[in-house]
Parts: sequence; structure tokens; C-alpha cells
Amino acid sequence: QLDLEGALIARDRVGIQDFVLLDAHNSETAFLDNLKKRFTEDLIYTYIGTLLISVNPYKELDIYTKKQMDLYMGVNFFELPPHIYALADNVYHTMLSEANNNFILISGESGAGKTEASKKILQYYAVSCPSSTLLDTVRDRMLMSNPVLEAFGNAKTMKNDNSSRFGKYMDIQFDCQGDAVGGHILSYLLEKSRVVHQNHGERNFHIFYQLVEGGEEDLLRHLGLEKDTKRYSYLGECSNVSSINDKNDWKTVKNALSVIDFDANDIEVRRATIFLLGIHVQVLHEALTFRKIEAKSEEVLSPFTVDHAIYARDALAKAIYGRAFTWLVNRINESLENKDSGRKTVIGLLDIYGFEVFSVNSFEQFCINYCNEKLQQLFIQLTLKAEQEEYEAEGIGWEPVQFFNNKIICDLVEEKHRGIISVLDEECMRPGDATDLTFLDKLEEKMGNHPHFVTYKLADKKTRKSLERGDFRLLHYAGEVTYCVVGFIDKNNDLLYKNIKDVSALGVATQFKNSLLRLTEILTAKEAWYVRCLKSNDNKQPGKFDEVLVRHQVKYLGLMEHLRVRRAGFAYRRRYEVFLKRYKALCPATWPHWKGVPSDGVEKLVQHLGYQPDEYKMGKTKIFIRYARTLFATEDAFEIC
Ligand code: ATP
Ligand code: MG
Repeated sequence: QLDLEGALIARDRVGIQDFVLLDAHNSETAFLDNLKKRFTEDLIYTYIGTLLISVNPYKELDIYTKKQMDLYMGVNFFELPPHIYALADNVYHTMLSEANNNFILISGESGAGKTEASKKILQYYAVSCPSSTLLDTVRDRMLMSNPVLEAFGNAKTMKNDNSSRFGKYMDIQFDCQGDAVGGHILSYLLEKSRVVHQNHGERNFHIFYQLVEGGEEDLLRHLGLEKDTKRYSYLGECSNVSSINDKNDWKTVKNALSVIDFDANDIEVRRATIFLLGIHVQVLHEALTFRKIEAKSEEVLSPFTVDHAIYARDALAKAIYGRAFTWLVNRINESLENKDSGRKTVIGLLDIYGFEVFSVNSFEQFCINYCNEKLQQLFIQLTLKAEQEEYEAEGIGWEPVQFFNNKIICDLVEEKHRGIISVLDEECMRPGDATDLTFLDKLEEKMGNHPHFVTYKLADKKTRKSLERGDFRLLHYAGEVTYCVVGFIDKNNDLLYKNIKDVSALGVATQFKNSLLRLTEILTAKEAWYVRCLKSNDNKQPGKFDEVLVRHQVKYLGLMEHLRVRRAGFAYRRRYEVFLKRYKALCPATWPHWKGVPSDGVEKLVQHLGYQPDEYKMGKTKIFIRYARTLFATEDAFEIC
């Protein structure tokens, strides 16, 4: 009696670990209460089935130790409190037992904790997978790729002191013994414009401050740099950030570069080429101050205005940085490459820039938010839509769960010939007088009636007050964002010099769209797992749970709908053949060979195992198991046998 009471009191204090078990499962308020209760007790993780919710605590918690890792290793998912390690471990064992490819989609808005989550997962694999000396090198390199890419690809924004300004997808490759044997990174659209301009309160990429603050005397002299960030207008006005120690970070990055196998030559000379072009000063001077004009087969030099010269300088700086970043990713990939041709399975980790809204939003936010829109669409496709369609196709009785499908917004942005990106490309290609404002006119013409699109001209009186004439507003799945069109044409063209004849047919946004399409293909070929990161407050304040903010995220991420589908649905499903092949040894009637149709064999098998009628359903081609615990019990029996 006392034990039971104790358990109930404890449960009341720390909330419920899996929302599927929440009594008031339809109540958003009960959902939030549970999250808050757990958050207050420093329990930042909660499940919806196998989906992991993580609420950013903005403080160091003592839950990422080696001891914790050991605790979660090889233990059934629901046996221990929710943890990112439990998810990582479950994905790993699924990959090993089913020999399939998996990916973990980590999503949430800027500052919600995606990058931290992805690092924890990578650390878990690095520490807990079987080890050999040779493989230790690969593992170290994988771990060390993080500080390097973060130095060059992350920066302080108003939302996050370590905000990812590029998208990252990393495949961790395992051999059939489960050893991590290699890796490969794909990077997506780096925010290059940050190199030459940062908004108030933001910084350039970390690497610049690390180098200036921490760089050794010799190196700085070699690069012609001074130990004073104020000397450099590209480094903006807020070089010191209390949460960042650039000097120490430089040491970490330098060490990481050497682990990844960048030799001293790379570190010194390559970096020199990043910063010093190695071309004659006169040539550079001319290129940055004169335009070449071809007139009657003759080349004439015409001087730039100051604005043009600044434009040329900035364009060059962005291009160099962009190429240096690509080179860096390629170089890391070379060092992670596994040359052994044996069979490999992978766990992919996706960590991109989160949804963001600033006081002024430009082309970069448009691309970043579009990317988040696509990932939300993928989540909807794989969980809410595909799941319900599968029940229908398999003839399982099902009450449909309604949800907001953001496909309408994805289409608005990306549809061929009709979407915003197409209109932008057309305008970029149009010879003559295309400007950001003519682009806006075209948008108004084409999307005037769209329910998720509005401009000053199209708005009613009330909305108009909050819009400027050069703005367009999108009603994203995660909220409204007003974009200022200034710079859209230029940034989409991304030219070194503004010379219309060099315009490629594919603008930056279209290239990005295509790379996201390829990413979606890569992901849908794998089994999906989800980490949904929530931001606890907007002030990076430790332990503060802003209910309005969290409620908004719970809503737009579709967590309530996901819970509804999960509760009414089935945690696990497998084709009859696969299920029978794995577990046939557990039942005398199916061992060693079942001669009948596989579904009958499975029926025999589960009856022998004592499955209750509410625990499973037989579809047309698959068995559906409602609770993960049922499967775990079967899996335990299999291990013993
Ligand atoms: P962006 O989209 O801007 O890249 P993000 O979702 O990747 O954002 P992170 O950089 O992972 O956000 O997290 C922001 C900050 O929040 C971290 O620098 C850290 O201070 C804190 N944080 C996130 N997760 C945790 C955690 N599990 N424990 C402690 N602090 C955390
Ligand atoms: Mg990040």
C-alpha cells in the first residue's frame, strides 16, 4: 500500500514519462502541465511513444555522464526514464537487428536545442559502440568535426549565441558488428551574407573572433592580423559575448583540426589562402575598383563608384568564405571516408537552422523558414499522413485524426512556374530593369488571393498598419513572418560581380530547393525517428518555462495530433514474413518451418505468446502491435531462447 502511494506521489511530482499514458490525452492544458511539471524537476525529456520531446533547460544538467551512457546501453526503450541516449540506443539496436538504414530528424525553432541534441547523440555513439584502435580514429574525427564546423558555420544571433547558419546532415556508417566505421556530411546553404554584414546584437562567424582573440603571435603576423577585433569592420560591434570564450574555443578548434588530419600545412597555408588571396595587390586593386566593359571587341576599364567598389569587395569576401566552407566540409569528408567496401548501415542525423523571426527578415530567413516548412511537411507525411493511410490500406478500423497540412505553404513557396521561388528566378533572369520592387509586384500579381500570403497593397486596413510597402508576409506553419524584399534579387543571383550575362539559370533559392528535394529522398528511404526540441523561454534564462511560448510550439509542431494518432494507433508494425522469420522459434507450431501462409503463422505465434486481442491487429500484409512493451516482451523471450 505504502509503495503504491509513494509511486503515485512521485508520479504526481514528476509527471508522466510518455504522453501516450496521459489520462487527459486530448487536453492541451494537461499536456503542458505535464511538460512543465517535468521541466521544473529538471526532467527535460518526455516521450510520445518513440518520439522524444526535449525542452531546453538553458543550464548544464548532470545527465550526460559516461555513467548515464552505460545505464542506457542496450536497455529496452521504456524501461528507464526518457533520455536522448535511450533514443540513440534504440535506433542503434533497431539498425543492428533489422540491418536497415535510419535517420533522426531533430527539429525545433532557433535556440530550441537541436545542435546540442545532435552532439549528444554523436557522443553516445562514439563512446558506447564497440571499439578498436583503428576505429577510434574515425570516432575522434567524427566528434572533432563538430567544433570545426561550428566555428566556421555558427554565429551569435539575437535568438541563439551559437546559432547554426548552415544545414547539416551527417551519416554515421556502421559495419555489421555495429562498429562506427565512417561518416559523411552534407551541408546546406551557408548564410554567407553574415561575413560582410551582421544585424545589431549579432556577430560574424565564430572563427574570426577565435582567430583574432586566440591566434598565436606567429600565425597572426603571418596573416597580417592584429589582436584587436575592433580593427575590423566585418567583425561588427559586439565581439564579446559572456557565454563564449573565443580564446579557449580557438584551442579546441586547432586541436580538432589536427585530429581530423588537417596537417600543419593545411592549418597555416590553407588558412592563409582563405584570408590572403595570394594574388598581386595591383590585380586585386584593379578588380575591386574598376569594371571591365567590352566595347567593339575592346576591353575598357571604367571606375566603380564607392558603392560599387564596396559591393565588389563584399561579394568577393562572401564567395571566398563560401568556398572555404565547402572545402572544409570536403576535407572533413575525406578524413571520415571509409574505404572498406563491406556492407554498411547508417544512422543519419539531421540538424538544420531552426525557424526564426527577427525584426527585419530577409532572403536568408526566407530560405531557412522554407527549409523548416519542408521538414514539417516530411514529419506530417511520415507520421500523420502515411500512418493513417497505412491503416486504411491495411484494412484496420480507424477514426481519422484531423491535422493542419502545411503543404499549401510549401507549394506557395516552391511550386514550379507558380511559386515564390519561380517568380524570383524569372525576375532575376529578366533582362532590363528587374528590381526587388518589380519582384514584389509580380508576387502580388501571382499570389494575390493566396490565404497564406499578404502585402501592403493586398492587406486590409488593420493588417496594413503592420506592413511596409516593400514587405511581403507569409503565414508559416510556425507563425507569421514579414519579409523585406530588399536584396532578394541580388542574393538569389549571388554574383561575384553584378554582370547580367553571368546569371545562371538556377538561382540560389532554386538550388536550395533542389538540394532539399534530394535530402527528402535520402531521408524517406530510411526509417525515421524524431526529436522535437522546444524552447522554454525567449531570454535564454535557466529553468524558466514560458507557458505561452511552449504552448505555441506544441501547437504548430502538431504534437497533440501526433499523440492522438499514436494513442489510437500502433507502436510497431512488421510484414508477416519478417515477423515470422524473426520469432518463429518461439512457437512449436511455427518452428522450424511454417508451411502455410505467413499471416496464419503469425496468428499462431502471437496466440502462443499470449497476446491479448487489444494488443494487436492483423492487417492485409502486416501485423500491427499497439504497445511497444508487448514487442519488448517478445524480444526478451527471443533473446532468452
Ligand atoms: P539554431 O537553430 O539557432 O541553430 P539550435 O536549436 O541548434 O538553434 P542549440 O544551439 O542546440 O539550438 O541550443 C542553444 C543553447 O541552448 C545552447 O548553446 C545551450 O546553451 C542551450 N541548450 C540547448 N540544449 C541544452 C541541453 N540539453 N542542456 C543544457 N543546455 C542546452
Ligand atoms: Mg543549431
